[in-house]
Amino acid sequence: MRLLLLLLPLTLFAHMNIAVSYPYIGAITKSIGGEHIKTVVLARGNWDPHFVVPRPSLISKMRNADALIMNGGQLEIGWMPALLRRAGNPKTNIGSESFLNLSHHVKLINKPTTVDRAGGDIHPDGNPHFHLDPQNIIVLAQTIRDFLISIDSDHADVYKNNYEKFSASWQDKMLKWAEKMSAKKGMKVIQFHNNLAYFNKAYGLDNIGTIEPLPGIPPSSRHIIKTIKLIKDKEPCCILHDVYHSTKTAEFIREKTGIKIVLMPHDIGALQTIEDLTSLFDYLTGAVQ
Ligand SMILES: [Zn+2]
Repeated sequence: MRLLLLLLPLTLFAHMNIAVSYPYIGAITKSIGGEHIKTVVLARGNWDPHFVVPRPSLISKMRNADALIMNGGQLEIGWMPALLRRAGNPKTNIGSESFLNLSHHVKLINKPTTVDRAGGDIHPDGNPHFHLDPQNIIVLAQTIRDFLISIDSDHADVYKNNYEKFSASWQDKMLKWAEKMSAKKGMKVIQFHNNLAYFNKAYGLDNIGTIEPLPGIPPSSRHIIKTIKLIKDKEPCCILHDVYHSTKTAEFIREKTGIKIVLMPHDIGALQTIEDLTSLFDYLTGAVQ
């Protein structure tokens, strides 16, 4: 009897530990899962999402997880396989019922040709940065709702309810962001890495090129010279730059062309002021000018 009493509170407050690869996934999962889940975010928002070191602290987080939600589209290809292997947790294995790959539920753009693949492109399945289209956030929230229901059907009503609330409030915000961005339609931009392909597409920004010749390939001097010429010809407003690559090359290009460099956070925590999904999109929609 005493043992039972000791166990009781544990059962009452038990929640699922859900490991997620990136902060944005954690934020959506928290909104839908509410008090019934605990999210454990593996990569920090100011890290390069393509290259995360599978350090011991991450291995132990993965070992204790009841489920795993990842971005997919090969964004985690450089670190997740090693982490899964070292953690050896059957619940988070690819293909298990408590594993979710978000990229299977959205349409990927920028699929390269076979020639590009051979060049070492780190986006061989298409562009994996799909969460930067605010419409995709709704799709991802639906996907996560259905996933949580599939692994914890007892709380299906809670997850459905939380999704409805999240979705309604997100749709309101999307209207504001669309209004804010409407004057910028057709504006030409250039990027370092093609992080913002979905954002640009959503708001009609015209991405004329990238400083990287291919995703993940550092620019050669030949490509830099070509980029300088492209900027002089097409006169984009600015270089949209991620927070984790050095801005040295962009600064060199700025010296030659006078172009602005705008830092664009890709996830929650990428800059100190980006504390949630709303502030991420508030920032992004205010930064391009
Ligand atoms: Zn990328």
